Amino acid sequence: MTMQTKRDYYEVLGVSRNSSVEEIKKSYRKLALKYHPDRNPGNKEAEEKFKEAAEAYAVLSDSQKRTQYDQFGHSLGGGGFPGFQGFEENFRGFGDIFGDLFEDFFGTSTRSRSGGRKGADLETAVEISLEEAYRGKEVTLEFPRHEPCESCSGSGVAPGSSKSVCPECRGAGEIRVTQGFFSLRRTCPRCQGAGERIDKPCSHCRGRGLVERKRKLSVRVPAGIDTDSRLKVTGEGEAGERGGPRGNLYVHILVKHHPVLARQGSDLYCELGVPFTAAALGGDVEVPTLEGKVRLKIPAGTPSGKVFRLREKGMPVFQGGGRGDQLVRIEIEVPSRLTERERTLLQELAKERKDSPATPKKKGLFS
Ligand SMILES: [Zn+2]
Ligand SMILES: [Zn+2]
Repeated sequence: MTMQTKRDYYEVLGVSRNSSVEEIKKSYRKLALKYHPDRNPGNKEAEEKFKEAAEAYAVLSDSQKRTQYDQFGHSLGGGGFPGFQGFEENFRGFGDIFGDLFEDFFGTSTRSRSGGRKGADLETAVEISLEEAYRGKEVTLEFPRHEPCESCSGSGVAPGSSKSVCPECRGAGEIRVTQGFFSLRRTCPRCQGAGERIDKPCSHCRGRGLVERKRKLSVRVPAGIDTDSRLKVTGEGEAGERGGPRGNLYVHILVKHHPVLARQGSDLYCELGVPFTAAALGGDVEVPTLEGKVRLKIPAGTPSGKVFRLREKGMPVFQGGGRGDQLVRIEIEVPSRLTERERTLLQELAKERKDSPATPKKKGLFS
């Protein structure tokens, strides 16, 4: 950005030299809307026009800077008006200055109309069982949160006392830090951006205007939620500063391990031990599900490792509708101890079947 190629600020905004602040503002709004990067993605020319208009507006809307500009033009101090050379680096600062303007048109402001900042987001965690994740659950959360102080109604000022303008920033809430050609705006360290000084702080909240309280809140955990999900509860975070909106609350959901059911997505898995006699003869077995026990018919000669699918006995599909399945893997149980009579019966069975102690299988290496 060189001075020689810089257009006249009045020309940039298309206003006359004696136009009012309202006219300047109106013209700038029009240009800002037209050239805003959100409306012109990837358009370098529009971006330049947008910055140019913003710079012109920053100077002409400030009576002190406007007077200087009218007298000295762009040549002031050799560096023109350095406040905007840090534009890219300081976009947020820009949004703050023109907060109300941007809120009107683009909704990009971080401040509310009253100038207060949005409160911080809070995070809390809750642990539920797999059954509760299956049905959904109303959980009661209790967490510490800052609320406006009752003694001073959140002002931070002791009763009968008042506020005065912060001497450091003269009420602006921010100070300029100049580094070479760059001039950045920083939140005033003395008043933390409030622009005010409290002469006698409220003794209850020590001037913060906020006190810590326990917040109790009921939240509906939707059916089908998976572990490590985060629920967003809008507007239940920390109170905003100086009338700003509340932050959000994020609830981290942990689903406890179930003693027999494992979960993957919306499907459930279980292993079912079946005596070798039942596997050979076939019959009904009972399978635990989240809706209680269900009967599963296994055919005669069911091998170990066989998997059965119970349709729609899994978890509800989160935000999609329908249900997953439950998969049941059969593990055949062989008795480790036999009575004398059992041994005789098994020996007779082996003789009857002419079973040899071992048969080589064609299958690969423990596939
Ligand atoms: Zn200050
Ligand atoms: Zn107070």
